[in-house]
Amino acid sequence: MSLNKINIIDLSLEDLISKVPKKFQAEQLFDWIYHKYETDFSKMSNLSKDFRDNLINNYLVGNIKIVHREFSDDGTIKYLFQLHDGRTVETVLLRMKDDQIDENGDMLSQAKYTICVSTQVGCKVGCAFCLTAKGGFIRDLSVGEIVEQVLAIKRDREIEYNRKGNIVYMGMGEPLDNLKNLVGAIKILADEKGLAISPRRQTVSTSGISTKIDKLGLMDLGVHLAISLHSVDNDVRTKLIPMNKAFNIESIISAVKRFPYDNRKRVMFEYLVIKGVNDSLASAKQLIKLLEGIKAKINLIYFNPYPDSEFERPSEEIMMKFADYLNSRGLLATIRASRGIDISAACGQLREKSGLELENLNSCN
Ligand code: SAH
Ligand code: SF4
Repeated sequence: MSLNKINIIDLSLEDLISKVPKKFQAEQLFDWIYHKYETDFSKMSNLSKDFRDNLINNYLVGNIKIVHREFSDDGTIKYLFQLHDGRTVETVLLRMKDDQIDENGDMLSQAKYTICVSTQVGCKVGCAFCLTAKGGFIRDLSVGEIVEQVLAIKRDREIEYNRKGNIVYMGMGEPLDNLKNLVGAIKILADEKGLAISPRRQTVSTSGISTKIDKLGLMDLGVHLAISLHSVDNDVRTKLIPMNKAFNIESIISAVKRFPYDNRKRVMFEYLVIKGVNDSLASAKQLIKLLEGIKAKINLIYFNPYPDSEFERPSEEIMMKFADYLNSRGLLATIRASRGIDISAACGQLREKSGLELENLNSCN
């Protein structure tokens, strides 16, 4: 692969228009790549021969490849992608509900899917409970590497480009620590001439870099926000997420209050429940107080242990009690279904597991 070729997946439609002779050629290319999922320029039959030759010599359609897939009984598929430098990241496709068809064979509701995307190789934030953090930070993903995770999965599963789906930036890495490329990817994924995944269907999850929450808010893209809160006590939260020293709970809550939000929607707060650390009803009570005045939704997540992890998974009983306490007092709380629990559920675990197996996984493509 020639490294001086331009990766088209890195480019917005506007970028592409500025690089090719005619605007309609850029639109045709977008159609081939994002609607027909074609990766081979020589098969793009309605492009002129000269234009195709120019593309073959100077451009690439993406440069990440699927090296491993794990299938879970509930329909979740976990992908491991290899990047051009040999590094790997994970992406997860969450279950599509079956299409519903009425007695005349007409479509009532279309299958939906959610893709959980990575934004960095490793992560700088260093959360004590997170396997991704253990390997430290390697590098940011480029715009194209973020977009291509979605494109490659849609292509792999033959999901039509216009089928409604959601994107959550909850894979490996801290999205707001790679803000520029994240925003570039959000816009390309949202392009009406491409995959057309509206920003309203895209959720950015952050461990709480308050200043960057403000920056993202000022761009007014219409994306949703999910805050990885995990604790209501600054001392406990600093132990879990060291960055809490610089960006404490109060600073995050103020930034959330400033974030431009669609009034009909709720800000999601993720709360990783860890046995004996943050699972008491006193914590639940403080959580209600903390979120007063915010249209919030709590997503409770079971801590998922991995070899040598210092924490434990809470019992189902504790989870239910915590959720019931919040719900009975008017704070909407759900327990995240442990999707794909039979494959390596939490972030970073597939990559960890298959580190040694990569050589014989290349056949997955
Ligand atoms: N860096 C961002 C983006 C997602 S991190 C953030 O922290 O919000 C990936 C997700 O995996 C987060 O929701 C985090 O809470 C979750 N996670 C990390 N380690 C986990 C573990 N051991 N068990 C369960 N969930 C975990
Ligand atoms: Fe980074 Fe998120 Fe993992 Fe924390 S939980 S180390 S922010 S990826």
